[in-house]
Amino acid sequence: MIGIYGGTFDPVHYGHLRTGLEVSDIFALQELRFLPCAQPAHRAEPEVSRAARLQMLQLAIANYPQFSCDTRELERTGPSYMLDTLVSIRAEIAATPLILFIGTDAFNALTSWYRWQALFEYAHIVVMTRPNFKADPLTDFYRERQVDDWQSLKSCTSGKIYFQNVTQLDISATFIRQTIAEQKSARFLLPESVINYIQVNKLYQA
Ligand code: ATP
Repeated sequence: MIGIYGGTFDPVHYGHLRTGLEVSDIFALQELRFLPCAQPAHRAEPEVSRAARLQMLQLAIANYPQFSCDTRELERTGPSYMLDTLVSIRAEIAATPLILFIGTDAFNALTSWYRWQALFEYAHIVVMTRPNFKADPLTDFYRERQVDDWQSLKSCTSGKIYFQNVTQLDISATFIRQTIAEQKSARFLLPESVINYIQVNKLYQA
């Protein structure tokens, strides 16, 4: 199975990396691709450039061969619709099961994503617990697709939803940006290599 971990990564932090490592192991993924979003459909494009967000991600995953960066959204123009992304990945991986990983906050907003129901034609969705967010009650659409055993995700290429507990790290990129803007230390929330990059390039300063 191949995993996709989408986000703005503005900047990438241990909340992404630790949960990414855990789901890679739990689901025995061949590969987990971090997929930076260029132009989110429901929020402004980050002030920090696409190239800088990508470089921070590349620094963060440099020593982890099971992690990679997928840059296809950065190379497209227009809003970064996850559906377009999954369609293009599916065309490359034939019938390999594909999992889109999202945190609970993203799950609660999923029905606002472009043609969200069609996502399930191309991938499974696994929802990872995130501190301070509780999943909204499941509608029939989700209940019909929910599986209780992760092994079921291996038996078909797409179409299922599964809920996975992960270590709860109350870290957000918003908090990191604020911390840096207030000239406080962001150490231990994200890799040192990314902190150095932020300092050298004077990102997130007030
Ligand atoms: P921001 O604070 O700018 O909104 P963020 O920290 O939420 O950023 P994103 O890049 O927007 O990070 O998140 C991408 C994905 O990672 C989303 O699916 C989100 O739910 C998930 N995620 C982010 N942080 C965590 C965390 N600490 N634990 C679990 N999932 C997380």
